[in-house]
Amino acid sequence: MSRYRLIFLIIAILSTGFIATSLVSYHVSRTSIHNAIVESSLPLSSDNIYSEIQKDLVRPIFVSSMMASDTFLRDWMIDGENDINKISRYLQEVQTHYGAFASFLVSEHSLNYYYGQGLLKQVRPDEERDTWYYRVRAMAQPYEINVDRDMAHADALTIFINYRVLDYQGEYLGAVGVGLTVDSVQKLISHYQRRFKREVVFVDHDGQVQLSSSKAQPVGSNVRQTPGLNGIFEQIRQGKQDKVSFEYQLDGAQQLVNTRYIPELNWYLIVGQSESEATSDIRHALYLNLLLCLVVTAVVALLTHLALRRYQTRLETMATTDSLTGLPNRRAFDIVIDVFLNENRRANSSMALMVLDIDHFKSINDRLGHFGGDHVLAVTARMLKSCTRAADFVCRWGGEEFLIVIKDCDEHNAMQLAEKIRHAIENELIAYKSEQIAITASLGVAVARPGDNIHMVLERADVAMYAAKAAGRNQVHFGRV
Ligand code: GH3
Ligand code: MG
Ligand code: MG
Repeated sequence: MSRYRLIFLIIAILSTGFIATSLVSYHVSRTSIHNAIVESSLPLSSDNIYSEIQKDLVRPIFVSSMMASDTFLRDWMIDGENDINKISRYLQEVQTHYGAFASFLVSEHSLNYYYGQGLLKQVRPDEERDTWYYRVRAMAQPYEINVDRDMAHADALTIFINYRVLDYQGEYLGAVGVGLTVDSVQKLISHYQRRFKREVVFVDHDGQVQLSSSKAQPVGSNVRQTPGLNGIFEQIRQGKQDKVSFEYQLDGAQQLVNTRYIPELNWYLIVGQSESEATSDIRHALYLNLLLCLVVTAVVALLTHLALRRYQTRLETMATTDSLTGLPNRRAFDIVIDVFLNENRRANSSMALMVLDIDHFKSINDRLGHFGGDHVLAVTARMLKSCTRAADFVCRWGGEEFLIVIKDCDEHNAMQLAEKIRHAIENELIAYKSEQIAITASLGVAVARPGDNIHMVLERADVAMYAAKAAGRNQVHFGRV
């Protein structure tokens, strides 16, 4: 019982220690990953994306400003927009030369919308898609950046630079500019998605997703309707100029986001990362650690169990074996005798018990010395074993007294066997050093009767042995009373 308690204690100590260290190191790593994402990875990504966009915008703004101050273009408009071929060739040239996606010119005088292929249409104040033109016409600053669908290019999402064109007196002539696709930005955010598992979403002021690498927030959806982000979009809008960090739960997983306002586009950039995805490696390490701890604990517990069992068995053997003769000792007798008696009672057979005491052993000791006496005891033990069967129980009772239990044996057989033993001892010459020693023994025999306890039987055998001594030794007596 105490062995199992010890093993349980070892398992408890080991596993508590292992689990505690694994969990603590997991939490430390997770916190540091979390902080790294919130404090540097996400802000850095959003900075990179923003500066990439700004870089992309520099050239088109410059090209548009050149177009707005181009004397050919202005003269062509002032002269009455005569040869459409000329202006469309000009617009085409700008497009191919500067790698713009689209180029356009809208005349205030005719309200014509020209593009690389000629005249596209006329702008109208009541046309929803043309509102930009009337906004540009009324605005004070020289240009605006507007993200819109391009009608000349199958309504592709396009960033337009709308530049005001003035004549030489500063009068408003119309609007000119180029459009650029969001391809490069799209590529950039796909790169972030692939490489860093970071989701990048651009939303306009109404929460409408304009560009996205996120499956949870595809283009066309509105973040105000997406679970998780819907709760924080108002805060994002209020944060406007600031870079802001947010966290929210999506399907039980912690999402970390960094948002910033892009004034050039009047968009919000949202860069997000799932914390559980970022920490999946260390989570696997944790599971591996816990598994290892399980294995190590199990192995240690098993080894302890085996070692303890071995030592326990060895101790038990040591405690129940007489080292001089190799026979079981009195303690062993105490352990097994109850089993014998019960078996005997159940089988309803008789069981014999013999007490054997070597005669005049003191004088043997005196003659041969203590070691010689020991030798005689060991030889006697061997003789007793060889005279009995394996099923019989022979033990050293103490000093030079032996006790033999014969199962399934009546008085007659017991007396015969006792006589055989006595005879064998008497006839054996024990060699010790140069001497040949002859010994004799006195035996008392008793048979267990129904209802006897072991003390009664032992006592009868003992009394019989003493009777044998008293009658002159080297004889067998039966204990009847
Ligand atoms: P008896 O015929 O009456 O039995 O005479 P005895 O000399 O055998 O008398 P007793 O039984 O009183 O003496 C036993 C002696 O055995 C006493 C003790 O010194 C000796 N003895 C007991 N154990 C050992 C042992 O382990 N080794 C040796 N060498 N002697 C032992
Ligand atoms: Mg004795
Ligand atoms: Mg004796």
